[in-house]
Amino acid sequence: MKSDRLYLYVPPEEKGEVQALGASWDAESSCWYIGAGDDRARFWEWLPEPGQGPGDEEFSITSEAAYVAAATVACWKCRSRIEVICIYCESGTVLGEPLSQFTVSSIRAIDGTLARRLAPWPTFREVHSEVDQESHFANHCPHCGALQEDMHLHSEPGHPFFSIPRSAPGAVRLTALEGRVRLSGDESFEV
Ligand SMILES: [Zn+2]
Repeated sequence: MKSDRLYLYVPPEEKGEVQALGASWDAESSCWYIGAGDDRARFWEWLPEPGQGPGDEEFSITSEAAYVAAATVACWKCRSRIEVICIYCESGTVLGEPLSQFTVSSIRAIDGTLARRLAPWPTFREVHSEVDQESHFANHCPHCGALQEDMHLHSEPGHPFFSIPRSAPGAVRLTALEGRVRLSGDESFEV
């Protein structure tokens, strides 16, 4: 890959669109790219996220019926009442297989569309682990900054996101995410 090129993340069905906008094809890396002089704004939909190389990350989950699920919990550290979120999919695919009513935890990667849709929830952000050199997304307390690990929100009955379809009315608030989103993480569902 050459440094004066900005590589795009383009799903195969959208290649006609980027080609029409003037992106170039790099046969060597099988990637679309734009040059340093090109107008980035026109390609915002396909620009890589900071710190994430195009093609480095395959998304395991795709959904056109995804929601931000929000619940109120006590911060484990300062005990403030805080809002925590996760992604809930009414339907979608996991590794190409259709699945319905599943919750995603331990999110490792999100596409640009989802990143923009999640902007209203800045306390849900990426955490980099020094130990395994991997990143995942997690909620943070807006008061003390403490990391709220998904294992304390998803793992057991009584945790707010253990079973969203069966949660008490009003306990989990769903906000529909417009359009198709792609992400990688651990899906859980009722059998
Ligand atoms: Zn706190």
